Amino acid sequence: MASAVEQFFTVKAKIAAAEREAGRLAGAVTLVAVSKTFDANAVRPVIEAGQRVFGENRVQEAQGKWPALKEVSPDIELHLIGPLQSNKAKEAVALFDVIETVDREKIAAELAKEIARQGRSPRLYIQVNTGSEPQKAGIEPREAVAFVTRCRTVHGLAIEGLMCIPPADENPGPHFALLEKLGLESSVEKLSMGMSGDYETAIAFGATSVRVGSAIFGAR
Ligand SMILES: *Cc1c(COP(=O)(O)O)cnc(C)c1O
Repeated sequence: MASAVEQFFTVKAKIAAAEREAGRLAGAVTLVAVSKTFDANAVRPVIEAGQRVFGENRVQEAQGKWPALKEVSPDIELHLIGPLQSNKAKEAVALFDVIETVDREKIAAELAKEIARQGRSPRLYIQVNTGSEPQKAGIEPREAVAFVTRCRTVHGLAIEGLMCIPPADENPGPHFALLEKLGLESSVEKLSMGMSGDYETAIAFGATSVRVGSAIFGAR
């Protein structure tokens, strides 16, 4: 099997090709390399190959892995892409540079409190449950624009983007299109959408970042 570094370069090339095909600017799309379940030894070669933006879905796992890696490469940008419990807001604000999974009032309030307390401001995205799946995190699409507004006005949070995870068994295109529409309506600049199986499609629909795990690091 190809190494993570080889697969990383393959994914980078496919992102560049998808940007060209969609008439997007070269470099318009950021690759978030999703390293969940892979340890520091698996991640280090990809950092050495030049990747700087990584995604983790669990606060605790990231705390065990990233502080030492960030010490060696301080320009690493770490994204939280998994659900955030309000009792982990403190740790999340301390460690992550982008939190992509803000999806309810209580989390918004906790984050605002911690940002004020720590004087550290991770960039924030709202997760939208575009498929209205009961088991999935994220705000309902019809509530998303009002929630972005409340985060800004009630909690004083700078909301930079929206994120979604389409239902596994559906064509992702309509979900990406819905996220793009909600992004326009709520005046956010960033759209985090697309994973190993559909990142090229997401780029065609306007993704500004794609979260790719298994296509780089292998099966989990
Ligand atoms: C695991 C995960 C990914 C990466 O999934 P792959 O299919 O391995 O690329 C992307 N986004 C989220 C939210 C994830 O939890």
